[in-house]
Amino acid sequence: MSDLIKLLPNHIANQIAAGEVVQRPASAVKELIENSIDAGATAIDLIVKDGGKTLIQVIDNGCGMSENDARMSFERHATSKIATADDLFHLQTKGFRGEALASVAAIAHVELKTKLHAEELGTQICVEGSKIKSQEPVQANNGTSISVKNLFYNIPARRNFLGSNITEYKHVLNEFLRVALVHPEVHFTFHNNGDEIYNLPPAGLRQRIVHAFGKNYNSRLVPVQETTDIFSVTGFIVKPEFARSSRDQMYLFVNNRFFKDKYLNHAIQSAFEGMISSKKYPAYFLYFTVPTTSIDVNVHPTKTEIKFENNKEIYAILRSAVKQAIGQYNISPSIDFDL
Ligand code: ADP
Ligand code: MG
Repeated sequence: MSDLIKLLPNHIANQIAAGEVVQRPASAVKELIENSIDAGATAIDLIVKDGGKTLIQVIDNGCGMSENDARMSFERHATSKIATADDLFHLQTKGFRGEALASVAAIAHVELKTKLHAEELGTQICVEGSKIKSQEPVQANNGTSISVKNLFYNIPARRNFLGSNITEYKHVLNEFLRVALVHPEVHFTFHNNGDEIYNLPPAGLRQRIVHAFGKNYNSRLVPVQETTDIFSVTGFIVKPEFARSSRDQMYLFVNNRFFKDKYLNHAIQSAFEGMISSKKYPAYFLYFTVPTTSIDVNVHPTKTEIKFENNKEIYAILRSAVKQAIGQYNISPSIDFDL
């Protein structure tokens, strides 16, 4: 009997991982913007063409990378964010899996330009299908600019499966807002096909929501606030009379990370019971803080599914906090806040 098992070459392993991490242009956008946040950027520009199918570019003024790190960043499981298994339970950063850039570079044409603040020159790298094509010193601004062209160029089945430019654009917009809503202190811009979609100056949370969704939100938002030993929540619900006809504004964040959770959505929805029709959905922007040891973020490569240790207690506290906010609003319904 001969042995049959071989380790897959890197570029194939990367391509397999890419299938999970990068489902569409919006997933690459999410990973790139999160990297900019982790790099401490205070200004982030997102530029896409054709909903991200032909170009995604993210420019930040974060810490930048050294020449070696710029190369290393494309290796799978290469990360500056965790070093030990224990770190997984104390995550302070959005990234930790060290596979986003490796995945994106396995299935696109990637150009990375980056410069450390202390250096005179930066470095520019071109990668295609996991292969580094070139690296050279360049004049560059402090921080990092990364452009991803022709996503899925080498996976025709995936490329054909993508939606129309408008569909992909909407997904990109959603990812952009999810990050922008949790980092109001960061200046974000977003361009699609040369049009400025958003220019969001640094702001407080209420202002950021108003900048993102329109002036009329200023009088629609009702603050939510509750702090307990296991969990605290802050943020806003939208007044029940402005309930939405789709689930498009149900924003939940935990420790500065957007996540999806039907169970907790239900807690909120049930607090609105009797106030909105069964065909409508509440809108909310709620930010949880929990001890990092009480959640598991590492459930899925896209990191939008979170396991909570105390989810039953959180359900109850959340529901009562939202009920209380609705009660407050009913007593004094028309407080207007200055921006
Ligand atoms: P992760 O974010 O999980 O560490 P990534 O593949 O997204 O993995 O990135 C790999 C590494 O590249 C990061 O750990 C970080 O050190 C570096 N990096 C990526 N993007 C940037 C950026 N915009 N600015 C500075 N460093 C970056
Ligand atoms: Mg990352």
